[in-house]
Amino acid sequence: MRHHLATLYRELGLRGMNQAASGNVSARTRRGMLITPTGVTADGVAPKSLVAMDFDGRHAGRLRPSSEWEMHAAIYRADPAARVIVHTHSDAATALACLGLGLPAFHYSVLAFGGAEVRVAPYVTFGTPALAAAAAAAMSGRSACLLANHGMICHAATPGAALQAALLLEALCRQYLMALSAGVPRLLAADEIAAARARFASYGQQPALHDEE
Ligand SMILES: [Zn+2]
Repeated sequence: MRHHLATLYRELGLRGMNQAASGNVSARTRRGMLITPTGVTADGVAPKSLVAMDFDGRHAGRLRPSSEWEMHAAIYRADPAARVIVHTHSDAATALACLGLGLPAFHYSVLAFGGAEVRVAPYVTFGTPALAAAAAAAMSGRSACLLANHGMICHAATPGAALQAALLLEALCRQYLMALSAGVPRLLAADEIAAARARFASYGQQPALHDEE
């Protein structure tokens, strides 16, 4: 898992999803989680630099965990389905979050995150328990949310699926911003959302988040 997680963090950097050391990734373990250390860039991450810790902040080794470890812990505590978490300040998601907007059902793929919208959590100071609570609440019943004036966070079952989820969320945010800048996007109606939901369910899994590893 250390290797897969370091690869995920590096891949986010290569794809322009992570500026400097602003993002962080983690994976659930038997006793808590593995998380990127504070201040590490995509180029600088090594499997052995990942910090093993519990959800109360206890960790071993000399490296300190990401300053957002409490946000990761709160999501793992709230949702047993969360196995791998990606947090980034990727451009489009952050731009949309800075408008105080989440993603409405402007495109059927929004449903891949568990419902008819991806919510935006209210602005709270980074690295605080209050932000952890706000993010977990905004993600209730969803696998992603935006963080006002901050960025985004999403979870998936595996590192590969988490990368795909983060890339899909960023693409949808970019597309919604483009649509907003050109006019007033038409949102899906309730019956259209229900039909798309049924279609997702009939695939047996969420196709957009299919793990290709
Ligand atoms: Zn952040």
